[in-house]
Amino acid sequence: MDYTSRDNVPSHQNCNKLNLLYYLFLRCPVNRGIFFVYRYYVKKVTIKENALVAKIAARVLKTDRVAIVFSRTIYLHHVSTKDFLRNTKWVLHELKHVQQYETVGTILFILRYSLLSLKYGYNNNPYELAACAAEQEDTLLNDYTLVY
Ligand SMILES: [Zn+2]
Repeated sequence: MDYTSRDNVPSHQNCNKLNLLYYLFLRCPVNRGIFFVYRYYVKKVTIKENALVAKIAARVLKTDRVAIVFSRTIYLHHVSTKDFLRNTKWVLHELKHVQQYETVGTILFILRYSLLSLKYGYNNNPYELAACAAEQEDTLLNDYTLVY
């Protein structure tokens, strides 16, 4: 991303203001409690190893190691949770898919994703391109709590 562009300056100032508000909000223990509950119950993402859906996806995609997201669960095949978590870029990629599910809803996302895959192919599917771009967005890690 180009940070030198002048157009980006106002949005970055807003971003800093938001960070300050966020910091002040989290200074209060009650707010921290609310935030913890929100992160744990609302933003909880479960990781499951040796999942059948991931095994099927691996056969279809003709690859060995697979991570596939359904709503708020990341299903793994031929990769342990430990190895998956070590690969931050991979985790960020899958978390972006979780976020994509959130924005349109589970059923609509699966429908749109499938249609876009048919139209553009897996690699050029806009949802995949966005997930690849998100591999650099560390902030996504703060938005979710991974449970395994
Ligand atoms: Zn993907």
